[in-house]
Amino acid sequence: MFHIYCPHCEEYREEEEFHPKGEAHLARPEDPDNCTDEEWGDYLFFRKNPRGVHHELWVHAAGCRKFFNVTRDTQSYRIYETYKIGEQPSKAITA
Ligand SMILES: [Zn+2]
Repeated sequence: MFHIYCPHCEEYREEEEFHPKGEAHLARPEDPDNCTDEEWGDYLFFRKNPRGVHHELWVHAAGCRKFFNVTRDTQSYRIYETYKIGEQPSKAITA
């Protein structure tokens, strides 16, 4: 078991309180009625599955129930940072 820092509660909590929700920083097409089926399909269904550092959306499901982002290495499980929605990560993806 390990602990994850919730940027809303501002404290470390047990990992069992959290759930991952997939890739972070997905940009919704500005005008869905005028984008192609391929663009809309990419937005809805296709996600990166990197080996290494990437940004994920997580929710503190058994706590404050708020969403936030996590910069995590999928190979080592190391969490570099957590930050609120709308903020930018300090760690850039190098892969
Ligand atoms: Zn929280």
